[in-house]
Amino acid sequence: MTITAVRTHRVSAPMHTVFATALRSTSTVESVLVEVEDSDGAVGWGEGVQTWRITGDSLASIEAAVQGPLRDVVVGRSVDDLHALSRVVEDAIAGNTAAKAAVDVALYDLAARQLAVPLTRLLGSATCRLETDMTLSVGPVERMADAARGRVADGFGVLKVKLGDGGSDDVARMKAVRAAVGPGARLRVDANQGWTPRESVRIVRTLEDAGLDIELVEQPVHHDDLDGLAYVTSRVDTPVLADEAVWSARDALEVVRRGAADLLNIKLAKCGGLGPALRLLAVAEASGTGVLVGQMMETHVGTGAGAALAAVVASPYVADLDAAWWLRTSPVRGGLTYEGSTIVLPDSPGLGVDGLAEPA
Ligand SMILES: [Mg+2]
Repeated sequence: MTITAVRTHRVSAPMHTVFATALRSTSTVESVLVEVEDSDGAVGWGEGVQTWRITGDSLASIEAAVQGPLRDVVVGRSVDDLHALSRVVEDAIAGNTAAKAAVDVALYDLAARQLAVPLTRLLGSATCRLETDMTLSVGPVERMADAARGRVADGFGVLKVKLGDGGSDDVARMKAVRAAVGPGARLRVDANQGWTPRESVRIVRTLEDAGLDIELVEQPVHHDDLDGLAYVTSRVDTPVLADEAVWSARDALEVVRRGAADLLNIKLAKCGGLGPALRLLAVAEASGTGVLVGQMMETHVGTGAGAALAAVVASPYVADLDAAWWLRTSPVRGGLTYEGSTIVLPDSPGLGVDGLAEPA
């Protein structure tokens, strides 16, 4: 069976709650869903999400990349040779990681469908239920404390708190969040590059001295400041998680070489899909560096692919895959669902996506 068609669909998925970080604020997820079809009519799905401030991918650039050079390298090929085909996609163009992730995931989904197994099974895992943390948007202190209380009431035991926007006092925010949720909830912090290295050390040490029991601090400093990241990592006790600083396996090697972080956040939209993610994972495992699987604000397609990766990652850190929870409705039929903080992956082939949902 060879690949005969590659199609794209723009979706604008409204969220029930505005999502805000130090970098951006959004009330819709804008993405391109990709279908890769084979000569038997089987279809694999993937998602490329517009993230101007992080990957630089836009809806137009994703469509242009998928319908141009990425389609050119996959049409006529077979997913029987999935590993090699994933590398062809990775090498076809520079950058455009969200577009490449969309096609790479669609190829993996198609391969799983051809074998009539869930994507997790193709990747070598029997897991179909896994926990996710829940993100708290950055905002005024009281609003963040209220949101924390609400999400714990919704069943989430691990909260990732967005800080670093230069607004309210980040320490005051964390004290209010901890007071709101009590000692039982696990708290992590994501500054999204919002602090200087010295600020990071001062804030994290203050959180430590206040006994707030923060599980990890994510990307405190600018993404290209690996020296700054290493400065922070060497001066605080709280584990430091590199996110925007690590895209590829090569980036991971450099972070490891410099001792710049304790943990790596693997996201399909940054590294370019499941094939590159597995190579990045190998670097992390070989170097004894912990990982956590995260994602951009994506719909159920991208979130399902992230969950399939998380299912094969041996990590004590709960995955960061709550994006689809924020959507009013799914843009597709089938796919994952949430039960409180548990992601439930369907027991059907691939990602279990059956097609686009009817417009509301
Ligand atoms: Mg992050």
